[in-house]
Amino acid sequence: MAFFTGRNGKPRPRLPLALFRRALVFLRPHRLRFLPLVGISFVSTAVTLAQPYLTKLLIDDALQHRSFSSLRLFAILMGICAGLSFLLGILSTYLYTKLSALILFDIRLAAFQKLQALSPQFFAKTKAGDIVSRINNDVSELQRLSSDTLLSLPTNLLFLVGNAAMMVYLNPLLSLISMATVPAGIWAMRSYQGQLRQQVQDMREQSSNIGSLLIEAILGIRLLVAYNAGERKNGEFRRLNQSFVQSLLSMQVTSFLAGAIPSAVLTVSVALLFLYGGSLVIRGALTVGSLMAFMAYHARLLSPVQSLMGLYSALITGSVSLGRVFELLDKREEVTEAPDAVSVKLTEGSLELDAVSFAYDGRAPVLLDLCFRVEARSICVVVGPSGAGKSTLTDLLIRFYEPSSGRILIDGLDIGKLRLADLRSAVATVDQTPFFFHASISENLLFAAPSASAADCRQAARQADIGDFIESLPDKYETVLGERGLMLSAGQRQRLAIARALLRQPRILVLDEPSAALDPHAEFALSETLRKLAAYCTVLIVTHRPALIDIADQVIVLEGGRVVESGRPQQLLATGSALLRHFREKLVEARLPA
Ligand code: ATP
Repeated sequence: MAFFTGRNGKPRPRLPLALFRRALVFLRPHRLRFLPLVGISFVSTAVTLAQPYLTKLLIDDALQHRSFSSLRLFAILMGICAGLSFLLGILSTYLYTKLSALILFDIRLAAFQKLQALSPQFFAKTKAGDIVSRINNDVSELQRLSSDTLLSLPTNLLFLVGNAAMMVYLNPLLSLISMATVPAGIWAMRSYQGQLRQQVQDMREQSSNIGSLLIEAILGIRLLVAYNAGERKNGEFRRLNQSFVQSLLSMQVTSFLAGAIPSAVLTVSVALLFLYGGSLVIRGALTVGSLMAFMAYHARLLSPVQSLMGLYSALITGSVSLGRVFELLDKREEVTEAPDAVSVKLTEGSLELDAVSFAYDGRAPVLLDLCFRVEARSICVVVGPSGAGKSTLTDLLIRFYEPSSGRILIDGLDIGKLRLADLRSAVATVDQTPFFFHASISENLLFAAPSASAADCRQAARQADIGDFIESLPDKYETVLGERGLMLSAGQRQRLAIARALLRQPRILVLDEPSAALDPHAEFALSETLRKLAAYCTVLIVTHRPALIDIADQVIVLEGGRVVESGRPQQLLATGSALLRHFREKLVEARLPA
């Protein structure tokens, strides 16, 4: 199921003009590039329209009067027209493609920037394949629409008008017969357009489902193989592909009928034209050259009419893609920077929560009325049962979400009033499962601080106790980490992520379950590392593990989204507190049979 609400049961407008009007935003910055294209269209239309008329002159003036000089002249003119047509065709295709690629890039960039402004909630709810399909397939479809069809609109319109004018000039009555077929074409086009739009919408959704299945399978390939789920997934993949092919075929048939029926009607009219035009020639009311030129214009009438009809279908299918891209661009940003946000360098790193509550999407509150203070350059450990809201709390600190009420203050400043970039420079987070790019260790480190030097990277790695390990690798800092850093052990990933965070020189370092994947020895080593880090920044650790309590200056116990206890760990443990209860439960859990 796609997260986006594409169909809401209401009938859609047949051609959503509002969508296209809105798309002009992307065309506007390139408007000057349209000018040469329109100029080329004019010239190439004139050249193309001249060709049948030259045929008339060649037959009526050169052949009928047996004039070699006229024959030579018209033949040379025809050659020039053909050459010009060829050159203008290449030039306009090049310019059209360049323009549409620039527009496509702008749309993709806007969508990519939008993704960075959306909350983790959006990504939790939306399939990755669906997002990729919108940014990749739908935007490509828009490029095809703009380069193949939309940008050829002026050419086709000009050509149609010029062609019709030449036909009327040659014989008004014959022109009427020729053009009488156009309404039949328009009728056929209108009868198929609604159907086509729905089918394209279905096809896009099927395609995004296939993408989602592939991405999920790649990310979960270990589970898939280890649980012998390959055959099951193959079946699902086959079913999705079959539905896609079905949708594609239905769409193609409708698209073909929408174009083929009008063109069949137009072709039948050739017989009528020969009948009537031929009788005019026999009666001497029309020259042979004029009839030949007329038939050539009639044959060419099909092409702009078909292109314009194709354009109509393309607009219908393109509007689906446009709608899907705008749906993404319109997603509500839960966190935005205040227009009067102040730019400030946070230097201390004290943290205060003032009656902070939070609920996901109008659900029951996850955090309730949290009030606590963490002094600068101290270590605060937040413990609590699973689901108590610990990770949610860390997300609030870097404004992935906004508190439903209350304030979070760093160095006494409300983070809601700071520039997001300043806040995120001051607070660095290390997730429970840190992400790494398929790149070298140094590139992964420099991601946090692109201007850092090699010496800075080495120092951060030493501080995170991963320096010796990196130096022991054959390629040292140039060692390429596998996809998502899977070539490292869980503990090494954790330390490398800490080094990356330290490279930002944060005032507050937030670690979510940093020792979850470590053995007691490695956990002790990590706790020593974290203890030393408190000399540089405030350290906030979210953990289930008793070992990290030892280094804490302050412990906060969260239960059911509330702070049930806070204070120095030794004091709390000595008073038979909730903290003690929590860890006694941990010990019982640890003794449960595997
Ligand atoms: P753990 O120790 O198991 O990591 P936690 O204390 O970090 O748990 P959170 O991850 O903050 O707990 O989750 C707190 C509550 O919020 C849980 O009930 C969880 O189901 C819910 N929750 C977490 N993320 C979302 C989300 N994106 N949308 C809706 N509810 C969520």
